[in-house]
Amino acid sequence: MKTQKQLIEKFGNPAVDNITFERKWMTLWHVPEAIGDHIPAIPGKIYLNNLIKERLETTLFALIEADLHSEIKTFDGCFNIRKKRGLETLSLHAFGIAVDLNAAWNQLGKPSTWSNDFIEVWRRNGWECGADWKGRIDAMHFQWDNF
Ligand SMILES: [Zn+2]
Repeated sequence: MKTQKQLIEKFGNPAVDNITFERKWMTLWHVPEAIGDHIPAIPGKIYLNNLIKERLETTLFALIEADLHSEIKTFDGCFNIRKKRGLETLSLHAFGIAVDLNAAWNQLGKPSTWSNDFIEVWRRNGWECGADWKGRIDAMHFQWDNF
């Protein structure tokens, strides 16, 4: 997991200058129809950090390939300039490199409802899964900061 300092060195601080940050890093991803056909919860367009676009696409196709995609019931957001809930550091959502899924079933601090196979596909694709966090489980949350 990257520190706040490393994230701001890489991306700049979106909470201070979101215009520069968004121009440089953010993009509107037109999600391939094949993904939407299989996973209706995934919107047609997702505003995200260009750095995770291919990662997310690869991961969603891997879930479809493994027939695990039907576990995704809702897409609950990506880019959102905010702090981590209850903490002072910026959320990875502030950098557009995290997505939340099935929030209603995976509330902060509650046990994950994902299958192990589902989470393993994300791990294999380099994502850090909030379901794996000790002490502060955030099972709706998947982030990619392996830059
Ligand atoms: Zn999240």
